[in-house]
Amino acid sequence: MTPLEQIIHRQIERFGLMPVSEYMTLCLLHPEHGYYITRDALGAQGDFTTAPEISQMFGELLGLSLAQAWLDQGQPPEFTLAEIGPGNGTLMVDILRATKGIPNFHQSMQLILVEASSAMQARQKSALSDYDVCWIDNLSHIPPKPLFLIANEFFDCMPIKQFRRTNEGWQEQMIGAKDGSLHFALGKAVDPDAFPQAKDMEIGQMFETSSASAAHAEAIARHIGAFGGAAIIIDYGDWICNGDSLQAIKDHKKIDVLTDCGLADLTAHISFRDLSTSAESFAHVSAMTTQGVLLERLGITQRAQSLAVTMTGDVLENHITAHNRLTHPSQMGDLFKAIAIVPHGKPLPAGFTA
Ligand code: SAH
Repeated sequence: MTPLEQIIHRQIERFGLMPVSEYMTLCLLHPEHGYYITRDALGAQGDFTTAPEISQMFGELLGLSLAQAWLDQGQPPEFTLAEIGPGNGTLMVDILRATKGIPNFHQSMQLILVEASSAMQARQKSALSDYDVCWIDNLSHIPPKPLFLIANEFFDCMPIKQFRRTNEGWQEQMIGAKDGSLHFALGKAVDPDAFPQAKDMEIGQMFETSSASAAHAEAIARHIGAFGGAAIIIDYGDWICNGDSLQAIKDHKKIDVLTDCGLADLTAHISFRDLSTSAESFAHVSAMTTQGVLLERLGITQRAQSLAVTMTGDVLENHITAHNRLTHPSQMGDLFKAIAIVPHGKPLPAGFTA
């Protein structure tokens, strides 16, 4: 049993069944044993690889798209460039390199990284040692000026709650402990009309909600609606995600979500409908697009070709594979989706449609 598993067992013995949301928060961000606190999570040596870790092209193209939105909004002379959940800092490094040549962009920006884990902050600090960066641990500290923000694979680690439709109505799926191991158990029934958007789901099916995701989407849209700016959100999921999407990844493989607490990355699929609903009272939300289509619209093939000119051998092979991984429908191209958020009446960042 991992030390965190012991803590979880004790909490369940004391307080009873634990909601999945609390389990995710403990596994990911427990101050001593949480996954993002202790593990070298990202990259080939870590447990999972994100798009910016695959190729520099991802951050370059998205950085230019955000910078285009800044130009379209009249180049506000003071703005925040932010990433929420910046991982190793690779995405922001690529965004900054690609936007260096845009007159006044770097001179006008305040660079802010929103990161909950001090261990991840330390990694970001070394990746971004050439820049003046300010770290905050939640969005409420974003300064009152236009905000140009990117979030890649951030929302998937937001805690979710799971509900199963039963003959009793909706019952929350909880986590119990017995004979030294954790197991799923259904909690008390909640109002059968609690989730009107899931009213057609059959008995036995599962529905997931994330109040943390909704609160983050709302905070980003509220800020952009009030002060200007643009956000690009990319993650794996779909417009509507029904079913049980909770998964644990360790050493690039799926494992049982109730074992190796604190040693595996725990994520859930994003329902972009829910993100959009939370955001759209405050700002305009684009149509959802797939990552593959977005990157093609931003010119990834031309960029790949121009980078390839000086490459040979394994480097060239890896570059071609990376392009394919990011864009091909059978790889990340279709699995990952994107939306953009801008103030009502302002143009969307390049690559997005209304
Ligand atoms: N965007 C990066 C890495 C994503 S991994 C990339 O594309 O490579 C998820 C990141 O979100 C990690 O840095 C993790 O520490 C951070 N994180 C997790 N929960 C968070 C929270 N509640 N607030 C801020 N950051 C969080």
